[in-house]
Amino acid sequence: MNTDLQDYSHKRLNILTNEWVLVSPHRAKRPWQGQNEEIIKVKASAHDLSCYLCAGNKRINGEQNPDYKNVFVFINDFAALQKDSKSFEVNDGLLTAQSETGICKVVCFSHDHSKSLADLTAEEIQKVVFAWQKEFKELRENDTINYIQIFENKGAVMGCSNPHPHGQIWSQSTLPNEVAKKDKQQQSYFLKNKTSLLGDYLSQELKKRERIIFENDAFVVLVPFWAVWPFETMIIPKTHQPNIADLNAKEALLFAEAISVITKAYDKLFNTSFPYSSGIHQSPTNNKNNNHWHWHMSFYPPLLRSATVKKFMVGYEMFGSPQRDISAEQAAESLRKVL
Ligand SMILES: [Zn+2]
Repeated sequence: MNTDLQDYSHKRLNILTNEWVLVSPHRAKRPWQGQNEEIIKVKASAHDLSCYLCAGNKRINGEQNPDYKNVFVFINDFAALQKDSKSFEVNDGLLTAQSETGICKVVCFSHDHSKSLADLTAEEIQKVVFAWQKEFKELRENDTINYIQIFENKGAVMGCSNPHPHGQIWSQSTLPNEVAKKDKQQQSYFLKNKTSLLGDYLSQELKKRERIIFENDAFVVLVPFWAVWPFETMIIPKTHQPNIADLNAKEALLFAEAISVITKAYDKLFNTSFPYSSGIHQSPTNNKNNNHWHWHMSFYPPLLRSATVKKFMVGYEMFGSPQRDISAEQAAESLRKVL
């Protein structure tokens, strides 16, 4: 291992976005002076009458959820994007805007209100993966949908108001910022090298084995070299696939296993239901050649040292670049220890 990366301040390049993160590993050696507060865990019940995602309950718009088991998908009652919105553009000097349309859905991961992905079996998570695949395939048939973002916000600290296990799918007519950056980087690498950027990165990581947390026959879970969040991780498929549409049942189960392993490790790390935002970045659905895309799932958790000490993206990070103290290698080691 290159020890300079553990001893001296430096910056690392995110090859997928072409953005830098400042790393200050020398600061992580300071003794922690704060308090590790005790967490009071309240056991939630499997069904909550006041939850608008629980089976059989009425939602705010008056619709009643079916008496579902496992996974349930519905159109978001308060969607951020309108499906049949007016099409318009604003080109007024330096004032530029354009209309954006889309379809937003909610995916309940389980009928059990008290559970999170970390509490589900790999077989149960496989059902969630099947639902993501089905929604992706259906939404991409829509001519006005050119990108499909699958994500989850977990925990009150991430601004998620409902503890019922659920994620969302926002599909829209153009590429969002993060996806546009990754599209550009992967395309230029693919044109130049005729290979997948992330596939080549993964080969290097598998040789070095400094940031790998877990692997099975089809997937690797690792802390990316350029991680911004203290315990940020990625799930990368070993084979070059642009999106999740063509995963077979076995691959869907291995993907589910990877999700299960990392979410369980997160919960063990600080003995808490670990908050995070996770999302799948995959090829646009714009009918262009997107062979340069190598899909992947990222987890961005905000916790730093304990269940209550959270990293804030403030100050220098708002005005300069993201910054971290604990190195990606140290984070990977901590996660490996709790597997
Ligand atoms: Zn619920």
